[in-house]
Amino acid sequence: MQYISTRGGMAPATFSDVLIEGLAPDGGLTIPDSLPHYSFSDLEKLSKLSYNDIAFELLQRFASDIPPADLEGIIKKTYTKEVFGTEEITPAAAIMDDLFILELSNGPTLAFKDVALQLLGNLFEYALEKRKDFLNIVGASSGDTFTAAIYATMGKKNVNIFMLTPFGRMSTFQTAQGYSILSPNVFNIAVDGDFDLCQDIAKAISEDAVFKKEYHIGAVNSYNWARVAAQVVYYFKAYFAAVKKVGQKVDFAVPTGNFGDILAGYIARKMGLPINKSVLATNENNVLDEFFKTGVYRKREKSEVLQTNSQSMDIAVASNFERFLYDAIGNPQALKSYMDNFKKTGLIDLRGTEILKKAQNAGIVSGCSLHDQRIMAIRHIYNMSGRIICPHTAAGVAVGMQYKEEGIPMIFLETARYLKFEDSVAEAGIKVPERPEKWKGLEQREQKYERMPSDIGAIKSYIAQNALRAA
Ligand SMILES: *Cc1c(COP(=O)(O)O)cnc(C)c1O
Repeated sequence: MQYISTRGGMAPATFSDVLIEGLAPDGGLTIPDSLPHYSFSDLEKLSKLSYNDIAFELLQRFASDIPPADLEGIIKKTYTKEVFGTEEITPAAAIMDDLFILELSNGPTLAFKDVALQLLGNLFEYALEKRKDFLNIVGASSGDTFTAAIYATMGKKNVNIFMLTPFGRMSTFQTAQGYSILSPNVFNIAVDGDFDLCQDIAKAISEDAVFKKEYHIGAVNSYNWARVAAQVVYYFKAYFAAVKKVGQKVDFAVPTGNFGDILAGYIARKMGLPINKSVLATNENNVLDEFFKTGVYRKREKSEVLQTNSQSMDIAVASNFERFLYDAIGNPQALKSYMDNFKKTGLIDLRGTEILKKAQNAGIVSGCSLHDQRIMAIRHIYNMSGRIICPHTAAGVAVGMQYKEEGIPMIFLETARYLKFEDSVAEAGIKVPERPEKWKGLEQREQKYERMPSDIGAIKSYIAQNALRAA
């Protein structure tokens, strides 16, 4: 399988190339030039396999440049009971006859981002070793990407990671989770400023071609194709867990921010998985819900982005959406002109076009949830099943229930564990359970971070001083 750019300006590249590069050189996103297709009889065979064996079957199609034995080793090393708490890796728990919670948050940082990033960390290490190369990863996040990226790269050979976070502006749990990693290749930069400022600085550093080349600056953004590929696996696994017979249809409800997770479901459906529909669930930051309802995709101003209790979905644009648009528009030149225009105006208006019809018939329906609806959904699931869910998962439940069809199982993606959001649990009137041993006293542990002013020059020189470099 080869990879191309959504905007048409990249020579076909391998999986390992796009893993290391992240973004395509023409500013587009990388996509496979074709997808494998699974018939019902293929699916039947897959349905009997373990998580790791499904992962191997699917990922060897995507990563066809990695020798199968090597890929198998990487998968085996990544998806273990030690790291994910269960051999099933992403178990689907039935909460009623045809309602399931897909547990994606059993990884080391208690968010679904671990499923992809744990693999990415090992893939980076493997690919860099092969190429005799190294990477200095620079990123900014105030949410689950922050900790998931650190846990995925800590202790890895030939990788240093520099994460910019807004000092004093994250939840105490998240802060402690990330800053308590003392690994020598992890550099937490606690910036005096808000998240947008951190992101602007990280972006400016990545866009400085000279600096990037000298220090081999890399990224772990959600638009990295390898993350999407890794996420396709759990859609298959969940499907097999929910159906009585291969061929039966299911629905997925997906709490959505950057359109990464739901894109993986869309890809799985294109590969032949019998998904009836995916429910795209946003919070008040409803850029994508608005698009699917009206055909207008409008970037939000920074001042318009609301802070919610589901902060990992608080977005102004959805960085993976371009891959979906590419399919709907159907040609890279046209997509490029829409994206160029979007850069200028912050708007893509597809009202009244065939493109929109195609987008609206691609198996995705959408809805938006409000704060109180999410809190109610937490209470509702608790009353029904005794399970506690997080406010992101609750967005999926709140919107998903509106689209529940008789006789079609619905699978709610659990994108984070409630443990990270004890305040919301309390707000829902549920007594917060005692934390598992592993997370007790997290906030009191020793922390390692460098507090810095929001001065790009100073941050660059800090990175330069601590970066891996050519021998
Ligand atoms: C990142 C994140 C999301 C949004 O996922 P996307 O792939 O950006 O759509 C939802 N819930 C949680 C808990 C997250 O960390």
